[in-house]
Amino acid sequence: GTNPECAVHWIRKGMRLHDNPALLAAINFKNEQGKHVLLKPLYILDPHFRKFMRVGPNRWRFLQQSLEDLDKKFRALGSRLYIVRGKPEEVFPDLFKTWNMKLLTWEYDIEPYAKKRDVLIEDMAKDNKVKVEQHVSHTLYNTNLVLKANGGKAPMTYQKLVSVLESLPKPKPPLDAPTSLPKECQGVHHPVEHLVPSMEEMGLDGATIPPCKFPGGETEALKRLNKSLANKEWVRKFEKPNTAPNSLEPSTTVLSPYLKFGCLSVRLFYHELKKILATGPHAKPPVSLLGQIYWREFYYVVGSDTENFDKMKGNKICCQVDWDTNEKYLEAWAHGKTGYPFIDAIMRQLRLEGWIHHLARHAVACFLTRGDLYLSWEDGQGVFEELLLDADWAMNAGNWMWLSASAFFHQFFRVYSPVAFGKKTDKFGTYIKKYVPELVKYPVEYIYSPWEAPLSVQKTAGCVIGLDYPRRIVNHEEIHKKNIARLSAAYKRNKANNASQGSSSSSPSK
Ligand code: FAD
Repeated sequence: GTNPECAVHWIRKGMRLHDNPALLAAINFKNEQGKHVLLKPLYILDPHFRKFMRVGPNRWRFLQQSLEDLDKKFRALGSRLYIVRGKPEEVFPDLFKTWNMKLLTWEYDIEPYAKKRDVLIEDMAKDNKVKVEQHVSHTLYNTNLVLKANGGKAPMTYQKLVSVLESLPKPKPPLDAPTSLPKECQGVHHPVEHLVPSMEEMGLDGATIPPCKFPGGETEALKRLNKSLANKEWVRKFEKPNTAPNSLEPSTTVLSPYLKFGCLSVRLFYHELKKILATGPHAKPPVSLLGQIYWREFYYVVGSDTENFDKMKGNKICCQVDWDTNEKYLEAWAHGKTGYPFIDAIMRQLRLEGWIHHLARHAVACFLTRGDLYLSWEDGQGVFEELLLDADWAMNAGNWMWLSASAFFHQFFRVYSPVAFGKKTDKFGTYIKKYVPELVKYPVEYIYSPWEAPLSVQKTAGCVIGLDYPRRIVNHEEIHKKNIARLSAAYKRNKANNASQGSSSSSPSK
């Protein structure tokens, strides 16, 4: 073509300029004449994506904001972000040629869908004589090297993972964001094409989506990182179990959406954290803040090595359970209408803001599965996938298996009470009153169990149960015992099956 030679950095996750080795590789590339070439940072946006993927408006907006932030940063360097509409396998063959592409770089991705896509694109690139470079920067460690260090298979416990990580070279320091580009890399081509999508183009109507609590983008991510790490003592003392699920302001960092999209490099987070931990006595993994980062590695490593990790069937680490199907229950749970105010407040916060605390996730996940409704963790995974800003393939599936006692965690008889759990950190139900405003006038003794309030009290509070707020859909005291018995039976069946199949790999033995 007549277009100048270019090096393309394809952004999928990794939506940042700092600590982005694949971007730097594209910037540093030299052609046969030993010259730098035009840089084209690329994002491929499938306009039909929203129809078949579960992406709610909050996350869609987060993506849009992240793209806008990237474009701004690239423009400040004399380049720009090129957003091509279509599917990767459909747009690349044309781009290879018309863009006169010499090099294509991207960040390595462990998700099965991404792996398949990337193999396909790599083959297409080869056919077109375009060189491909992949770099690991979404995880702290290269998951393949972790597997190798553990004898070719995933460590199945957290402790084991940590000991394997400790046997490996320490994560490299994060790479700086480029502050300038070689002259040949600069240039804003196709000025009226491939622009950042508007909210409208993304099917988002500003008037109907919830207000934005956690804006997307690298700029915001770095701000949030600094804010989170500003209080060194808080960082050193951080112990996850002692943070509250129902504080009005988040009691943990809320860096998860930024890590999910790669607006924040986990290596930067890790090294900044290490600096602070070196300044005094501190908590330890698994409960410390560093320990949280290792949980992320844990699910990435296991997820990268487990077939059908996001499903029960065909997933050898997952206990096979006779979960019920019940559309009404699922709907009530997903929309915060179970009649249990603590559960409903959490699910409404999730839908409104796109983020809920880890222990809040525990509460609603236990409630949906082994605790109360006995629905499949895959149902919950689907709803989380739609509503979470941080919805992440490996972490979502892994944590859902954990909470449903399908894998990793086997004390299925330890069930959270949807009434007592929240009271520990929010005696007065302030959190409930915020997200379930129907109950705002309820006396404190009934705020977690409004069905116990005498009718006169309900009337005075302006909210009659069964009329203005749902009656509870199940009776926790009764149902959780039945569920424990059902899960216990499922465990026995699994054990017997595994024994008869001579499998040692799989299941719950405790
Ligand atoms: P912090 O406590 O500040 O931790 C810092 C970082 O450590 C997080 O941003 C996250 O990247 C990582 N981390 C923390 N807890 C975990 C964990 N249990 N597993 C793996 N990594 C962790 N997290 C997601 O990012 N995406 C998901 O889709 C997701 N689905 C979940 C589903 C269920 C049922 C449960 C119980 C948990 C899920 N989590 C998921 C894990 C965890 O709840 C969130 O990562 C955490 O609450 C995010 O808030 P934070 O950034 O303030 O966490």
